Amino acid sequence: MAAAEEDAAKKDTDCVYFLASPLTCKKGNDCEFRHSENARMNPRDCWYWLHSKCLNRDCAFRHPVRKAFYFSNPAFCEEIVTLHYHLSQPSG
Ligand SMILES: [Zn+2]
Ligand SMILES: [Zn+2]
Repeated sequence: MAAAEEDAAKKDTDCVYFLASPLTCKKGNDCEFRHSENARMNPRDCWYWLHSKCLNRDCAFRHPVRKAFYFSNPAFCEEIVTLHYHLSQPSG
């Protein structure tokens, strides 16, 4: 994947820290990932995103990390998968 494409893909991929809680991502507006309050409140994944690409930056459905991105950033995504795992576990 070209660097520019990868950057664009990041901007359209949901920030997992933001999804957990808006306060969890310390980068705020500087974050390279998407911060969407609507998607955060919506548990459903975006069909377009999963099947090809979603051109709507304000899409109210979730844009999870995709396999292509995963393979080019395995270490980073390992961290995300681990975080998702912890978030999905009942607390306590
Ligand atoms: Zn973020
Ligand atoms: Zn979408």
